[in-house]
Amino acid sequence: MAYATTNPYTGEVLATFPDATDNEVRQAIDDAHAAFLDWRDTPFATRAAVMTKAAQILRAEADDFARLLTLEMGKLFAEAKAEVELSAAIFDYYAEHAESLLAPEKLPVSDPRSGDAVLVHQPLGVLLAIEPWNFPYYQIARIIAPQLSAGNTVLLKHASNVPQSAAIFQTLMKRAGLPDGAFRNLYPTRGQVEMILNDPRVCGAALTGSEGAGSVIASQAGKALKKTTMELGGADAFVVLEDADLEKTAKWAVFGRHWNAGQVCVSSKRVIVVDAVYDRFMELYTAGVAALKAGDPMDPETTLAPLSSQGAAKEIRENIAKAVAHGATATEVGPRVPEIGAFVQPTILTGMTDDNPARLWEFFGPVSMIFRARDEADAIRIANDTPYGLGGSVFTKDTARGVEVAKKIHTGMVFVNHPTMVKADLPFGGVGRSGYGRELIGLGIKEFVNHKLIDVVDIDAPF
Ligand code: NAP
Repeated sequence: MAYATTNPYTGEVLATFPDATDNEVRQAIDDAHAAFLDWRDTPFATRAAVMTKAAQILRAEADDFARLLTLEMGKLFAEAKAEVELSAAIFDYYAEHAESLLAPEKLPVSDPRSGDAVLVHQPLGVLLAIEPWNFPYYQIARIIAPQLSAGNTVLLKHASNVPQSAAIFQTLMKRAGLPDGAFRNLYPTRGQVEMILNDPRVCGAALTGSEGAGSVIASQAGKALKKTTMELGGADAFVVLEDADLEKTAKWAVFGRHWNAGQVCVSSKRVIVVDAVYDRFMELYTAGVAALKAGDPMDPETTLAPLSSQGAAKEIRENIAKAVAHGATATEVGPRVPEIGAFVQPTILTGMTDDNPARLWEFFGPVSMIFRARDEADAIRIANDTPYGLGGSVFTKDTARGVEVAKKIHTGMVFVNHPTMVKADLPFGGVGRSGYGRELIGLGIKEFVNHKLIDVVDIDAPF
């Protein structure tokens, strides 16, 4: 069965779940549509109360929620707890702001005869959310908090390796008071996903995942003329300029590359260091990576978690070998990682020449590509030598300079003196092969609403 919980630390298959039947899928669409017809007219205050309650439950039961994340995808328990809190903060954000973000906007018109023109933002209907396993709760919260707050209803197809995290969120929302059918988790097959997209009552789809999945879903949705948002892969540049505080910068680089076992779309996957400080930075960075402690993700001493599955670990090792075959040097760092569990030895790739195709790949694990840049301009060139455009960082003591460099990096988010951050009140999204659209804040809540013009015109006004 495709949907299963397998503990990445022990390799044990703990539970399996049958695929949805076609009848279940049809029923879920019927229920989501029926729920929408009421929910769209439900006052903001009532929707906000549901969001607030969901946040309260998450916080009150943070340990239980977090334990399930660690069990299903292997992340460190401390990181799992931080993810629970982040998800709660997203619910709180929309409880507080949804109504003002979607308030009608009076349009400034130059000729009074154009009438009293107002834009109202109305929900579209049933949406499909397709989500990845690397942040099982945060990814759901990132889409359902804004979309339910806007008055839409949501069907969820989560990654097949986190079926229990998906199911517990449906229970969470029910406990928070969400009407039945307004948020439904399904275990659909690929064919059923297409069936959902083709249903006329389904108005759009939001996908977070790989380029491959994004391209399939965007084309299926496009064929059915449904709007999509795509949050896809990334290979964030982490640019280190010669005036950076090297000790602190190296610490952030180690963290930025290795949190969540390196499985973050905005991991600092390409570290680009100007020549003047390259050698010193490398000493500090290598020592930092060597100090990581791989082990049981429930153990508070552990700082490097296993990957989500043995399959993911194998793919990374194969891609390291391919990078080396194309001329890169791979240096394994630190004590040997445990034999059991989906671990990959932290590896630093250097000598990534401009003709090595691996420089354009997304390594979804503890693999650091380090580039030596001649100077700032060369660092910007390397940063932009990627098909992706998600996040990125610039480290310099001169923050005004950092902002100027940030403007020249072609991505959706750039942070000065920090790895790409993930927060409830900052927007998230990218350009290029990293997808399109934005999640969170006002941008996210406005992705799936009808920006309807209502214009009250004097009956005697000329056309
Ligand atoms: P994935 O294989 O693309 O899976 C993502 C989701 O899409 C899963 O639910 C998956 O279901 C589903 N899916 C894949 N192919 C599909 C198809 N043909 N039809 C319907 N559903 C399909 O990605 P992943 O390996 O889980 O996640 C890692 C990727 O996500 C990385 O590239 C990472 O950078 C990206 N990501 C991006 C963001 C962002 O915000 N930009 C955030 C997190 C992760 P199954 O599990 O059943 O295959």
